[in-house]
Amino acid sequence: QIIGYHRPTEIHVKLAAITHNIGEELKRTNPGTEMFAVIKANGYGHGLIEMAHACLSAGATGLCVAILDEALALREADITVPVLVLGITPVQWAGLAAENNISLTVGDLGWLQAAQAVLGDRQLSVHLALDTGMGRIGFQHPEELAPAVSFLTEHGEQYDFAGIFTHFATADEADTAYFKRQVGRWQAMMAVLDERPRYVHVSNTATSLWHEACNGNMIRFGVGIYGLNPSGGSLTAPYELEPALSLTTELAFVKQLAAGDSVSYGATYTAAQDEWVGTLPIGYADGYPRRMQGFHVLVAGQECEIIGRVCMDQMMVRLPHELPVGTLVTMVGTDGDHTISLQDVADYAGTIHYEIATNLGMRLQRVYE
Ligand code: PLP
Repeated sequence: QIIGYHRPTEIHVKLAAITHNIGEELKRTNPGTEMFAVIKANGYGHGLIEMAHACLSAGATGLCVAILDEALALREADITVPVLVLGITPVQWAGLAAENNISLTVGDLGWLQAAQAVLGDRQLSVHLALDTGMGRIGFQHPEELAPAVSFLTEHGEQYDFAGIFTHFATADEADTAYFKRQVGRWQAMMAVLDERPRYVHVSNTATSLWHEACNGNMIRFGVGIYGLNPSGGSLTAPYELEPALSLTTELAFVKQLAAGDSVSYGATYTAAQDEWVGTLPIGYADGYPRRMQGFHVLVAGQECEIIGRVCMDQMMVRLPHELPVGTLVTMVGTDGDHTISLQDVADYAGTIHYEIATNLGMRLQRVYE
């Protein structure tokens, strides 16, 4: 993995924003409710290990990741708090998870039975996933859940039944009909349990911001950590979410085009008159979408249009006048009176900020301030 330390393109992560967002969220949660910070996919692009430390310092007591390798990376960094893998891990790695004290998500009895042989005398911590309407992973019916719970009770030497959870599909929408249907299914399945495990959790950021907690005692707080509104702005958060990430670069090359000259692959942009053009050392290989042609960046605080196709590692913008190489360019963030948010980039690219943030490449240098 190569990181661009010798080009002036940088992700800046403001740690005070992470502290602020987590602090505001913890003020609102019921006493006794824990927060597991969701830092999968390289901390939503912000950096896995750095976000783990920042979130734990801010009050989170556990961490959620998507895959076992992310959890192992946390253990390798000497992070000892509870870590839950949210996706399904192949049975063959059950022992590896157990040895590293990593909790795995389980969605069917067959997995538990198959993992027995792999575990031997090691004990694995598991959280049962209930599929109440997300349609992704987990037990769908009480009749399916009950035997798995009994199995865990009978095999306490191999399994620590640490948690049970579900995930909502529409918690970020104003219409609550589907959400309520999921709550109904959750309650019907939870009625199977004689005893609740240590962690009962239903809330991602949107659920925690806009819905009742359904008797959970832990929240899986993800995108809100980074100051992003999960609804994309259609619902208002009860406190100000402060975006932590900005993305900056510098003008790497400046030249004047004559009227009629074209720019980039396909020559899709042609100068109408003589104009100044700046080249930026960032492209779609860094996760800045190719379709951003026609959008803008801030060059020395002024909005400048992205002209021509975004290339793999470079892209061009039209400048208001000649500007020196090295001039600051803000692609995401604030400069002077102007702000470009991840949401703005996502809107233009026709996607959601989650996708823009998590696609920001490993080649980008991340600076924590
Ligand atoms: N819980 C589960 C199971 C998830 O898959 C995710 C992320 O997609 C989260 C929690 C965190 O969601 P968010 O980032 O919207 O808070």
